[in-house]
This record gives sequence, C-alpha cells and structure tokens, in this order.
Amino acid sequence: MLFTRSLIPTTKEAPADATNDSHILLSRAGYIRKVGAGIYDFLPLGYRVLRKVEGIVRGEMDRAGALEILMPALLPGEYFKETGRWDLYGPTLFRIKDRKGGDYHLGPTHEEIVTDIARRELRSYRELPKVLYQVQVKFRDEPRPRGGLLRCREFVMKDAYSFDADEAGAKASYEVMRKAYVRIFDRMGLTYRMVQADPGAIGGSTSAEFQVLVDSGEDLIVACDRCDYAANVEAAIVKVSTGAAGTPTGEPIARVHTPGHGSIDDVTRFLGVGKDAMLKSLVYLAGGAAVLAIVRGDHDVNEVRLARALGVDEVFLAGEADVEKATGAKVGFAGPVGFKGKIVVDRAASLVPAGVTGANETDHHLKNVRFERDYQATVADFRLATTGDACPNCDAGHLTGYRGIEAGHIFILGTKYSQAMGATYIDEKQQQCTLVMGCYGIGVSRLVATTIEQHHDDNGIRWPMALAPYHVHLVTIGADAAVTTAARELHDALEGQGIEVLWDDRDERPGVKFKDADLIGIPLRVTIGAKGLATGNIELKPRSEADPKKAELVPLADAARVLAERVRAALVASPT
Ligand SMILES: [Zn+2]
Repeated sequence: MLFTRSLIPTTKEAPADATNDSHILLSRAGYIRKVGAGIYDFLPLGYRVLRKVEGIVRGEMDRAGALEILMPALLPGEYFKETGRWDLYGPTLFRIKDRKGGDYHLGPTHEEIVTDIARRELRSYRELPKVLYQVQVKFRDEPRPRGGLLRCREFVMKDAYSFDADEAGAKASYEVMRKAYVRIFDRMGLTYRMVQADPGAIGGSTSAEFQVLVDSGEDLIVACDRCDYAANVEAAIVKVSTGAAGTPTGEPIARVHTPGHGSIDDVTRFLGVGKDAMLKSLVYLAGGAAVLAIVRGDHDVNEVRLARALGVDEVFLAGEADVEKATGAKVGFAGPVGFKGKIVVDRAASLVPAGVTGANETDHHLKNVRFERDYQATVADFRLATTGDACPNCDAGHLTGYRGIEAGHIFILGTKYSQAMGATYIDEKQQQCTLVMGCYGIGVSRLVATTIEQHHDDNGIRWPMALAPYHVHLVTIGADAAVTTAARELHDALEGQGIEVLWDDRDERPGVKFKDADLIGIPLRVTIGAKGLATGNIELKPRSEADPKKAELVPLADAARVLAERVRAALVASPT
C-alpha cells in the first residue's frame, strides 16, 4: 500500500479530551476520529487493526467448535422484558420507539436473543452441546465515555454462548473456551493474567477475567510470584493473618491530643507508630444503620466481603454528616471504644495488641487499644488482599498487586436465562430439562486500545506483529530512480509472499517520515536511500528497538527473504 493512496492523517496535536496514551496515539497516528462522545470512526489503519483482532478471535472460536452467527443490533423490547432486564438496565440501555410506538432498544449484550434461538431451535440432548458466537457492535449509554476506545457507547464485541445438557457439560464447554481464550491472548502478544473473578473459588472456578497488565488500568489484581494464582482484589482470598504488630504492653488506654491529624499518614507520623499499629475505623451505612468497620492502618476494606459479613447486599461509606452523627466527632477521629452501634473488626486488626485509634472526639486519639479488653466486636475477614500477602493457593508464594484492563470474561451462567425464557430440551428418558448456559465475551474494539496501552513508548505505538496494520513500513529517501525501482521491487516481492507493506512514498523530509513511522508503530521499518543502495544495502530497524544506532544493514538482494522470515518468526512466536 502506498502512503499517498491511503488515508493516514497523522497530527502533532492530541485531542483536548484525551488522557490515555492509547487515545492520544490512535488519534495522532490517524487510526481513529471522534464522531461523538464515546463514538468513533475507524480510519483505514484503525480498521485494519480491528480486523486483525477479529481475525484471531474468529480463528480460535472456529477452532474450538463454536458456530458464528449474527444477531441484530436493533432489538424489540419484549425479550429484555421477559427477563426483567428492560427495567434493570436503567439509563444504560439505548431505548427507541418505532413509528408505531413500540419499545425497541440497541443491544448492550445478547443473552436473551441467543436464548430465544435455543428455545426455538434446540430440541434434543442429541443436539448438545452447542456454542454460538458473533462479532457485533454493542451499545451502552455510559455516563462517562472516556479513554478513546477504552470506554465507548458504541463498541465491537465478540460474545459467545454455550448450551449444555447439565452442569458437567457446561463446565466442559467452559474449559474449551478458557483454552481458546489463552490462545487468543497469547497470539496477540499481550502480557496478561487469567484472574479469578468470583470469590473463594479455587479449583472449581466458574468465572474468570482476562486482565491485560497495564499501569494505567482501572482494575486492581493480585497475582502469586510462584504459582498461577491471580485474582481481582475484591475476589482474592486473604489467608488468615497470624502475625501482629508489637507485643501487648499491658498498659491501659491513654488519650492523646492529635490536633488536626485525622488521616492515617498524619497520625502515624505525629505519634511515631507504624501503620500496622493503627486501627483504621470507618463508618459504613449498612441496611440504613451506621456500622463501624475496623481494619489495620496498612490494610483496606473489601466492601464486597464487608457487606457479606454484615448480611446486606451493599454497604456505603458514610458521608461527613453521618460520621459526625454516629461518632460525635469529625471524620478521622472515629474509633471502637464507646461507639454506639454494631462494630465489625477484620481478623488482622483484632490481633493488634496495642492499637491506636480515634477517640470519637475531634482532635483526639486513643493508644494501647486492644480487642476484647477495650471493645467488643464481630470478627470477620474483610480486608483487601495486598502486595506481600501469602498466596492462598500455594505454600511458598506471595502476592503482588498489578493494574489491569479487562479484555475478556468467561463464566458459567447456569439456568438464569434458560429458566426465565423456557429454553428446554428432551433428555434420553424423554424428560424435559432446562438448558445450562455459559457466556464468553471479548471486547474487540477495546483490545485495539488496550494493546497500545501495553505497547508504546514516547514516540508512538509499538504493535505486536499479529495486530499491526502492516508488517513492514518501507521508507524511501529522495525520488532517485534507483531508489524507487528498488522500493517497488521489494514492495511487490513482499506482497507476493503475503507480507503486508506500507510504503511511505510521500515527498517529505526523512525526519518527518521517520517520526510518522515511529508514531504509527509498524514492527519493521525498512529504509531505502541512494547512499545505502550505492553499497547494495537497505537499512532494517525494528520498532521495538529504542536505540536508532541499532539499525542493521541488509543486502538488497536478501531483503525480501530476511523480512519475510522476520515477520513469520514474530507471528509464530505465539503458540500454534
Ligand atoms: Zn501461589
């Protein structure tokens, strides 16, 4: 492809609303253009990358025996009404009235529609299992679309759904999909972890997220340094902490004046104690009542587990007014001694022998506070896992915290939708049974951005070979006839072997072309100039190589073969 024939509008300026590296680079390198909030055009380079992501996903779905279908994006409201999601989805659902006043919406996900196919078309156990998938645009009216392709209102997803006769069958389908997902993310050249998303499910897991490790990611995960245990922090199992800071002093409670020192950092500095000696006391609203939750100063509250420990669906951190009402003191000075209301203490905090905590009096703290001697509380495990924690899965390892972007999610749905919609089959004994479902998603357009978040530098994108819009970026210097001839021959020879080449044939200075090549991020850059040709050489430079002096000279006669070999090696570096 000639640069001058394509449409690659590179720019120096990033869009004003761009905060993520991928958003800035996709815009500056001319891959995407914003049409509206969370709505984008894919220009030629962007669409090529999107199709590469789709190609890998399709290839692995087909290989796993899944059947590609296409369900509509425009959906009659009756299906979501059947399962109650018409109401549950709230303002996130893009709702439409047709000319007759009928309720319609744009599909945010397709469980109901695929379950409708199953209830109409699947009859007998002999037809099971079946896995159906599609690559389709989805619509969600996000309150804050942001990050370019990371959180859009219109986006491309691959969603697959498995239908099995029973739970064992569903687990087998899940396992086939899990393996397909591993192959997909390996082939894309991404660094990722398969992460437990459901709490306490080591072994018989029925849900996992594929998290691409990126410092700018929104999700917090922990992973073991010895085994393959990894989990979303909210789902991570915390091994019971036995070690406690310090030894009991036997000293009674002492009231200390801590003027203006409400935060953990301030108090520990002011009193010269470690964070692990602090009893961090947080007021939560649970089922309408104020509850005091205590964790060690170096730990954080896992609100999912706290809610479970309190037997409520959800807990909410109390605002200033509620804190003052519950404790009689300003925020930062709450504590268990004298607190009127339910108190829950995390197991690790309950073991602190001489804790420092708020006195329920503004500008005052208490020292030497000990569980059971000085206050009563329900003990539960509700702190978040953190770096340095012992691994719950193996004896030797420790957990490290990472940030990630969710790129895929697989889980067993059970009979939630098939039951609600009456999707059944007839088993061997002529009994009518409910289909057991699984659901498997990949954010296809989001992966374009996620890959860049992981693969870029200050100068631009660094595509893994499998997702690059072209394999080779050919730069010619000057319009010398010999240069043009050599470039055309190399371009044609490579394309003849299935190697994708972008030839920058623009009448621009070399500096401009090199800058754009770095920005666009094609993995192999080849430069042909009169000077090199005089010695029979071209210059080859991988985009992954930061040092420009590392460019190598390759004889023109060998160039097509060498480049083809490099491209193929990079593509099969991922497993087959
Ligand atoms: Zn481990």
